[in-house]
Amino acid sequence: MKSGKKTIAIDMDGVIADVEKHYIDWYERDYGVRIDRKTMEGLMEHEAMPEKGAIMKFLTTPGFFRTVPVMEGAVEAVKDLMHDYEVYIVSAAMEFPLSLYEKHQWLAEHFPFISWKNIIFCGDKSVIDTDFLIDDHLKNLDFCKGKALMFTAFHNVKHNTHQRVNNWKEIPTVVRDLTEIRSKVKKIAVPPVPENRPRW
Ligand SMILES: [Mg+2]
Repeated sequence: MKSGKKTIAIDMDGVIADVEKHYIDWYERDYGVRIDRKTMEGLMEHEAMPEKGAIMKFLTTPGFFRTVPVMEGAVEAVKDLMHDYEVYIVSAAMEFPLSLYEKHQWLAEHFPFISWKNIIFCGDKSVIDTDFLIDDHLKNLDFCKGKALMFTAFHNVKHNTHQRVNNWKEIPTVVRDLTEIRSKVKKIAVPPVPENRPRW
């Protein structure tokens, strides 16, 4: 990257945007029932609510992405990380094309310190080649080229294939610790392999 800093890709929905709370709030508004977050744990999004089509309906309703609450602590932590890292907001917004403008407006309101050059709205995130990816979905984390950090969400609580981060409070420390470990590992000299060395 131009700055020479290590790079971090940060997902929007379920990471800096608290869609979980938004689903619960909108479900109560439309169906009159307050869902307990615990009952959603381990379920995929399409099956997380008693009315199965509800979440898809919300995701395709104008205004949904524009009014998502900000994930607790995200603004402060992202600002903190930007001191030492090149931060990119990466959202697979093409899955819901109507969301592009709303997501852009949402970022302008809540994260105005993120330059437009650091916002990547895309389809398949496997093309993203940053040192870190903070995301809630395995479909993105599994194909990550850098270090994957799985942000806890109701649908991923039963998975343990990636290093988990539970909230924004812990992320700056985790990222800095991993960066330090990586730099130490790189400094360990690998002894040259002598020629004609027996292979076992
Ligand atoms: Mg997400």
